[in-house]
Amino acid sequence: MAPGWCGGASLARLPQAAPKGEGMSGVETGKGEGSPCRFCGEPLRDTVVDLGMSPLCESYVRPEKRNAMEPFYPLHVLVCRRCWLVQLDQYVSVEHIFSEYAYFSSYSDSWVQHARTYTEKMISRFGLGARSQVIEVASNDGYLLQWFVKAGVPALGIEPAANVAAVAEKNGVPSLVRVFGTELARELAAQGKRADLLLGNNVLAQVPDLNDFVAGLKIALAPRGVLTMEWPHVLRLIDENQFDTIYHEHFSYFSLLTTRAILARHGLALFDVEELPTHGGSLRVYARHEEDGSRPVAPAVGELLAREEAFGLTRPERYRAFAAQVEETKRALLDLLIRLRRQGKRIAGYGAPGKGNTLLNYCGIRTDFLEFTVDRNPYKQGLFLPGTHIPILPPEEIARRRPDYLLVLPWNFKEEIMAQMAGIREWGGQFIVPIPEARIVP
Ligand SMILES: [Zn+2]
Repeated sequence: MAPGWCGGASLARLPQAAPKGEGMSGVETGKGEGSPCRFCGEPLRDTVVDLGMSPLCESYVRPEKRNAMEPFYPLHVLVCRRCWLVQLDQYVSVEHIFSEYAYFSSYSDSWVQHARTYTEKMISRFGLGARSQVIEVASNDGYLLQWFVKAGVPALGIEPAANVAAVAEKNGVPSLVRVFGTELARELAAQGKRADLLLGNNVLAQVPDLNDFVAGLKIALAPRGVLTMEWPHVLRLIDENQFDTIYHEHFSYFSLLTTRAILARHGLALFDVEELPTHGGSLRVYARHEEDGSRPVAPAVGELLAREEAFGLTRPERYRAFAAQVEETKRALLDLLIRLRRQGKRIAGYGAPGKGNTLLNYCGIRTDFLEFTVDRNPYKQGLFLPGTHIPILPPEEIARRRPDYLLVLPWNFKEEIMAQMAGIREWGGQFIVPIPEARIVP
């Protein structure tokens, strides 16, 4: 599911999640502080940051719904003092996330390239071939597995969104339309299907029942198999102030420390880790069965665990400091926007990503600051951002309306966007990058 993540140029997902208690199967009934940790069950007492009430980040508003009520849910992040899992209560049904998932990873060239590089690396490092089995959980439209298929390595995708899986099938990637967990893993194992390479990218954060999911990974992995997973690193989130990557669809935020504990509980062991630039800084973790002694643990694992410890990921104070940092970021961004507006400057947004919606709602930035935003995705044009109701227009509107400043909402693509939009300098336009702290880029 990699790039969807509420962060990419995903298609607008319009259905609203039902409120709690109204047919949301599988939804926990936590109430913030005091609710049990998703992994270890310890009551949660420590707030990391409370971003207040926010609408679901992909519930773009149709023009005819502008006067209707919108559901808002708390964005209150807590950390568990026993296992240090950073987490949100679950307010969004699994059905909402998975069945309506209309993101097609293949739309993003850089993701397809990322997948190709990964495939080549895995084939050579682990000697995969015609007799191997690769299984990907949340395989999307096959943007990644297609490379294994082309290399003659048998691949199987597991993708809960039927429309997305159908595209994968059409491209020659066998795909099961299912949600992954122990039940499916047992069925596959009974058919003799276990993975020599098992992967799940950017999926674990969206899994409500972590333990069932990871127990399923253990079952689905061949005795000498390798498991790889990727997700944004919570250390980078905290260190680089990426609070806007917090949204309702992300229930969990992982450090390597916590990952190791979760894997260990289910008989899996880390043996390597890589740091990647994707999503503002991600980890790719490598794991195997605990009892498989054939792969020694790489020094990178111990090094990163030590770095996390030194950074303070096992101390509540470090998490508490983050809240103060986020509040200051809000004040500084508002300071800048207020100053520019008082000077009579006009400001527009660039992009309509999920992370922009967290930022704008938390900071209370509406059309009084941002006249409009633009997005290249035609499915979002003509809609309004959730909560803030800022109109989403086609990118051509920038040249027509000539704003003095362009607030770059998908800051993880800022280089690419500033190059694409360099034309604004013709009329003296400048960029504003909001994260890690608000700054003007002339
Ligand atoms: Zn815990």
